[in-house]
Parts: sequence; C-alpha cells; structure tokens
Amino acid sequence: MSAINFVIIGYGGMGSYHAHTIMPADKEKINLIGVYDVLAERRQAAKEKGLIAYESFEAVLADDKVEAILIATPNDSHKALAIQALQAGKQVVCEKPVAMNTAELDDILAVAKETGNTFMVHQNRRWDPDFLIVRDLYKNKQIGDIFQLESRVQGANGIPGDWRHLPEHGGGMLLDWGVHLLDQLLWLVDSPIKHVSVDFSYVLGDQVDDGFMSFITFENGVKALVEVGTSNYTTLPRWYIKGFEGTARIDNWALDGEMIRATNDENAVAPKPIQAGVGLTKTMAPPSEEATEKIAFPEAKAEYPSFYSNVYQVIRENAEPIVKNSEVRQVLALIDQMFELAK
Ligand code: NAD
Repeated sequence: MSAINFVIIGYGGMGSYHAHTIMPADKEKINLIGVYDVLAERRQAAKEKGLIAYESFEAVLADDKVEAILIATPNDSHKALAIQALQAGKQVVCEKPVAMNTAELDDILAVAKETGNTFMVHQNRRWDPDFLIVRDLYKNKQIGDIFQLESRVQGANGIPGDWRHLPEHGGGMLLDWGVHLLDQLLWLVDSPIKHVSVDFSYVLGDQVDDGFMSFITFENGVKALVEVGTSNYTTLPRWYIKGFEGTARIDNWALDGEMIRATNDENAVAPKPIQAGVGLTKTMAPPSEEATEKIAFPEAKAEYPSFYSNVYQVIRENAEPIVKNSEVRQVLALIDQMFELAK
C-alpha cells in the first residue's frame, strides 16, 4: 500500500523535528509533502528544504493530495485545527498536550467519531529507552514487584520560548513535560488512581507553572513521585525505582545508573556500623558484599512498532493505536484535576 501523504501544520521546533527526523525514519509509510506555518519565514525555510509551503491552512485542506496532517503548533490552537481538518476529511495526528483540557479533547473526539477519521496523539515518550527499561522492570520483576517510582526531569534553563510562558497558549510545565511523565506512568501502572496531590512552582515569576511535584497513589498500592523542574542547577536521577527485591536508578537519557538486587544469601555477613556525621549507624551502612548483587538493565526495546508505523497501521490497516485516545483523555483528566487542586 502507498505511503500516507502528510502536511505539517506549524514548522517550528517540533514540526521541523517531525519533518527531518521522525517522519524520514518511516519514509516507506509516511510521505511528507509540505508544511503550513503562519510565519512567512518558516514557510520560506520549508521551501528551501524542497517542501511545498502552503499559503493558508485552508489551502492544505483543499488539496486532495493531502491525506493527513500533523499539528505541531502552540497548545491552544490544536482543537480548532484538528476539528477543521477532520471535518475536511483529513486524518489527524496531533502533538501533545492534545488540548488545553478534557472538554476541548471531548469536542475533538466527537468530531473524529462523527467523521470516522483517525485522530491520534504523539505521546512519543512511550518509546524512550529509559522508560522501556522501567516498563521491562515493572512487567518482568527483575527487582521484584515495584512499589515506588520516582520519575523526574530537571533542567536549569527556565521555561523555553515565548508561548510556553503564557496561560492563554497552554504554557507551563505540567502541560509541557508533565503530560509526558504522566502518560508514561498511567500507561505503566494499570490501576485506578486512589489519591493525588500536587505542588506547583512559580520561582521564575511567570503566570504559568515552571515545574511541579506530584504524589500519586494507585489502588494497587503503587506510589509515584512525579517531578518537573526548570531551575535545578544540579539534578536527581531521571528514575529511582524501588522493588521488593532491589532498587534501580536510571540517571539520565544516556542510561547511566545501576540496579542492585538482594541476594537473600542466608550466610551474608551482617552490615558493620559506620561513622555517619558525628554519629554511628548500622541501619544506613552499605550492605555486605554477599547481600547484594549488581545486575544489568534489560535491553531497552519496544515490543511495539514505531509511532509512525503505528499511524500507518491505524490509517491503512484499521489496527489498534498504541496511544489510545481513552488513555490520552485519562492523562488530561488527571492534569485538569491537578490544576483544580491547586486553586
Ligand atoms: P514552536 O514555537 O517552536 O513552533 C510552533 C510553530 O507553529 C511556529 O513556527 C509558529 O509560527 C507556528 N504556528 C503558530 N500558530 C499556528 C497556526 N495557527 N497555524 C500554523 N502554524 C502556527 O513550538 P514547538 O516547541 O515546536 O511546539 C509545538 C507543539 O509541539 C506544542 O504542542 C508542543 O507541546 C509540542 N512538542 C512536542 C514535543 C514532543 O516531544 N512530543 C516536543 C516539543 C514540542
């Protein structure tokens, strides 16, 4: 079957990344023909790359060659663009966060249902190697059942760009990075949420949050700490995972870190007290050598196809999406709840 003809709406940071990195990796399935951006200089940049630069969104929708669009514009514009494109008979892939809130998403999903066209969200961090390791540990229990997870991203560069600082454009870090970490978490832990608390940070003085810390307890007993920070001049690990038989620490996206498992060796020597500050401790002393072993992380491999392979399967072969709209909605409902809690 032929590749799907795509046009990208919004040829900024992420639109360019789709155009020149993600889509070309699936070029037998995805054929990028052009872009539309409100800025003339971005349209000119597209022309220089050999792409069609449409003069208006309506021109994209009117072109029968165009089968699908990717929306990579600021968050507040996703809903209107998605609905207009679905109504014009186009298949739609949308960047995260899919919309400003669940009410907006419901409006989009109603039109997708009515028109029968595909609507999918690019929750790409389900393919991140660090997350794939955590997913493997959670499923295959190399450190026993996981009961506590800490998932963090921390930077020291503040909120980037222009629109991400503004509430009317859906700025702020919960909608920006939070949506990724919460999507990973909710996809990992297949259990309803029992309790949520959140603390937003506003240290940069913006009207939108520049980070947050959230504690989430699931009904199956798993607890998670999710943190996003943009004024962290030294950082904590990307993941800190506690299982009943061991602990894993993934420091960064380069997958540095370690995983230690208890050997449960009955002959292991009891830990010796160590000097701790001005005191002594046995509780916090390192375990004896025989009591633990270092094990390697599992291979970071997705057992599902790439995002755009899945887009192709969904559009051409009526396959199930990996990123389901019901899951996207749950994440957005949690985000709505967090904003509500903070009021
Ligand atoms: P950006 O500011 O770099 O680019 C946005 C582009 O959209 C700009 O060129 C702007 O001129 C254009 N634009 C604005 N309104 C438009 C409209 N109505 N029609 C056409 N073009 C319009 O922003 P960005 O960082 O590329 O973010 C865009 C989207 O991608 C956001 O929703 C963001 O959350 C998402 N994003 C996702 C990831 C990811 O990993 N999945 C990473 C970065 C950004």
